[in-house]
Amino acid sequence: MYLGQIVELAPKETLFAQSRHPYTRSLMAAIPRAGIRKTERSLPSGDAPNPIDLPQGCRFHTRCPYVVDICRREAPPLAPFAAGHLTACHRAFELPPLLHAEAAAVSPIAEKRMALYAEARQRSGVSIANSKASAPR
Ligand code: SF4
Repeated sequence: MYLGQIVELAPKETLFAQSRHPYTRSLMAAIPRAGIRKTERSLPSGDAPNPIDLPQGCRFHTRCPYVVDICRREAPPLAPFAAGHLTACHRAFELPPLLHAEAAAVSPIAEKRMALYAEARQRSGVSIANSKASAPR
């Protein structure tokens, strides 16, 4: 959720491994981790807009590294990206998978974090099929 709007909705594993919204990815990048200083993490640039004076178009466009003209004009709808996975981004289908190099520039430590998360999930024996959809906060 960003400035009062759900921007991505998916099972937890999908959010960690295949998030499609740049804000979700920035949240993943912002998770503190031992040995990695804040200055080495990729965080969204700039400040969040004033919630009583929201920008036109996508509410995240003032901070998004992938912003294009349409983002400034039209608010993206929360639309299906895949079964059980909704995202509100004009470029959801264009953005590289999170593990590719371009996405790693948004979240350089995401790949390591996701591997650790997957290991922890495996150790706990929690089935992916039992996961409920959740929105980033
Ligand atoms: S719609 Fe545009 S500005 Fe908004 S998150 Fe997607 S790419 Fe970024």
